[in-house]
Amino acid sequence: MVITRFAPSPTGNLHLGHAFAALVAYRLSVSNKGHFLLRFEDIDHTRVRPEFYQQIEEDLHWLGLDWQKPVWKQLDRLDSYQRALSLLQQLDVVYPCFCTRREIEQELAHLTRAPHGPEGPLYPGTCRNLTSDQISELSQQREPCWRLHATKAGNLAGTISFHDLVHGTITVNPTLLGDVILARKDIGTSYHLAVVVDDADQNITHVTRGEDLIPSTHIHRILQSLLSLPEPQFLHHALILDENGRRLAKRHDSLSLASMRENGCFPKDVLDRLEGLLELNFQHAFPTKL
Ligand code: GLU
Repeated sequence: MVITRFAPSPTGNLHLGHAFAALVAYRLSVSNKGHFLLRFEDIDHTRVRPEFYQQIEEDLHWLGLDWQKPVWKQLDRLDSYQRALSLLQQLDVVYPCFCTRREIEQELAHLTRAPHGPEGPLYPGTCRNLTSDQISELSQQREPCWRLHATKAGNLAGTISFHDLVHGTITVNPTLLGDVILARKDIGTSYHLAVVVDDADQNITHVTRGEDLIPSTHIHRILQSLLSLPEPQFLHHALILDENGRRLAKRHDSLSLASMRENGCFPKDVLDRLEGLLELNFQHAFPTKL
């Protein structure tokens, strides 16, 4: 059975871009008589605002979407992420990092050839080879975050790939995003670790999300392989951009579902606006179905 999910962060109102992401996941499940789930990605707890949990559900209902219960919240699942991190620690593919953001910036500024990824400079590896004595000493002063040792992890996972319904088969590049943080010091997890654990625990068969997250999927496939989790299919859909080619964000308040609704829009107006783009994505993904 096809199981998809929409995983918004309750840090702001849903806008047209979110509506599109939700619809892609919803239609993929409905057209296959599957299940559609809602999960709140709320580990960014300093930015989360309680009122948005309900507002998001209301917006999705207004659009005509419904989902299987229960709704999961990542903040309720920190123990599961901790267990996954312990497994990665046992595999010796993560290491503690004591650097502050400022120290990383300073280090990068000194490097003549700072490592770069698709999203900018990568962690320069300062704490990658600390001795156990250094780790004990630093632990007395600071709480570490935990980073993926991308090279070790890639070697252990071997050659892997992922299948994307729009983009085809993509070979994983383990070092694409460098030694990413898997467990932040404040919360003990990160987007990468939490999403992989949740997708497995909710038996998600098709992970749908914006194509800006393709680089993250490289990391997720490595984690799935190392944690012996099932490999879902992926559908990285196009993003809705504003007239200047920028991603929709909070600044585009007029395109939030709440303000569209206040301004007298009906769900059908939103759906009509997104229909062409939906078809385009689905034509790629399911050429035989349309
Ligand atoms: N919270 C993420 C977003 O809204 C979802 C990422 C994912 O689906 O993996 O973009």
